Amino acid sequence: MAINADWHKKNRMPRNATVEQRIKWHAEHNKHCGCRPGFPKKLAEKMAARKI
Ligand SMILES: [Zn+2]
Repeated sequence: MAINADWHKKNRMPRNATVEQRIKWHAEHNKHCGCRPGFPKKLAEKMAARKI
């Protein structure tokens, strides 16, 4: 799937985003853009630890 550049422009990741912010960002990102499907491994591990 292609990158949704428009969505990226409107949804910048905060520079010092918390884990929660990053999880939300990627969840929304997966819905709207296909440039990087799923969650980064490190974040997925944190989600598993938090049972999300
Ligand atoms: Zn993207």
